[in-house]
Amino acid sequence: MTSTANPPQLIDRFGRIVNYLRISITDRCDFRCLYCMAEDMVFLPRAQILSLEEIYALAQAFVELGVSKIRITGGEPLVRKGALELMAQLGQLPGLRELVMTTNGSQLVSMAASLKAAGVKRLNISLDTLNADNFKAITRTGDLSQVLQGIQAAKAAGFERIKLNAVVLKNRNHEEVGDLVQYAVDNQIDISFIEEMPLGVVSQHNRGEAFYPSHQIKADLAARFTLIASTESTGGPSNYFQVAGSNSRVGFISPHSNNFCSSCNRVRLTVEGRLLLCLGNEHSVDLKAIVRAHPNDQTALKQAIIDAMLIKPEKHEFNIHEQPVILRHMNMTGG
Ligand code: SAM
Ligand code: SF4
Repeated sequence: MTSTANPPQLIDRFGRIVNYLRISITDRCDFRCLYCMAEDMVFLPRAQILSLEEIYALAQAFVELGVSKIRITGGEPLVRKGALELMAQLGQLPGLRELVMTTNGSQLVSMAASLKAAGVKRLNISLDTLNADNFKAITRTGDLSQVLQGIQAAKAAGFERIKLNAVVLKNRNHEEVGDLVQYAVDNQIDISFIEEMPLGVVSQHNRGEAFYPSHQIKADLAARFTLIASTESTGGPSNYFQVAGSNSRVGFISPHSNNFCSSCNRVRLTVEGRLLLCLGNEHSVDLKAIVRAHPNDQTALKQAIIDAMLIKPEKHEFNIHEQPVILRHMNMTGG
């Protein structure tokens, strides 16, 4: 990784520069979080997904076009065989400033140190509750102690920053937001609270009824913590606050109550090779077809990526109270 990014070539119709790519390297996962997946998910057959070599070729094209930050996600990225080798390769891409990952933490006990050595700078780790039974209920298959040990392994590995991600659902975990912040403070890490997004049909809860807005979380936290508005901007959708007297920040990702589209700098690549121009719209381009048609030539691929910017929508159109218009689940999307 070098500190100098390549000149930006990805600019959309609204003048937004795209310099951040999120890549989902698998749709599979060892958990079945109830806001993310249906219980009986059918996963993609191998022929339909990008090979690790194809993912690398795509990442390289994006970086040469000015992308300076890549987040690897999934599904659960660390359940894909060869994930560590891919990370090590991506970590060497000239012009890539930041290689980061979002994980559910289940594999970190054995993999955290190797991820750090591969060049991963920061980790986002999902944690919605500190109650083992509730953790099992939300993830359907997960084991809280394994994830908590994974968080400690990540701390020991020395990442620049670790951030927890918690999706907050009313009457599931909304009463735990204070305990989660205290856990973050005790461990000197950050935490973001995420409003649930209506991606794919889920069976176990009504998303409208489970909606718990960020401003309500903020009000709940005010009883226990002093949150100081941070001037620091990550260029992303999170609004950050410093927890007074600590090293931790609390972020709020509020697609419903705070539309962040005007500063959007990102696109997503699904494991099927679809370039998604917006999380909340179906506008996409099939890059897998182009990589497979031109395996040793980046020219056509780069042109397709540049052209794709012209169909990036201005904003998402989420409505939590209606049946989802977006039928792909988050594991397909690369959240
Ligand atoms: N498996 C990894 C994990 O859980 O961190 C990475 C992929 S997961 C899809 C990425 C993030 O998306 C997680 O923090 C998860 O909580 C969040 N997520 C999943 N479904 C969501 C939804 N419907 N609305 C909002 N966030 C969601
Ligand atoms: Fe798996 Fe992450 Fe989705 Fe949970 S949120 S089911 S851990 S991909």
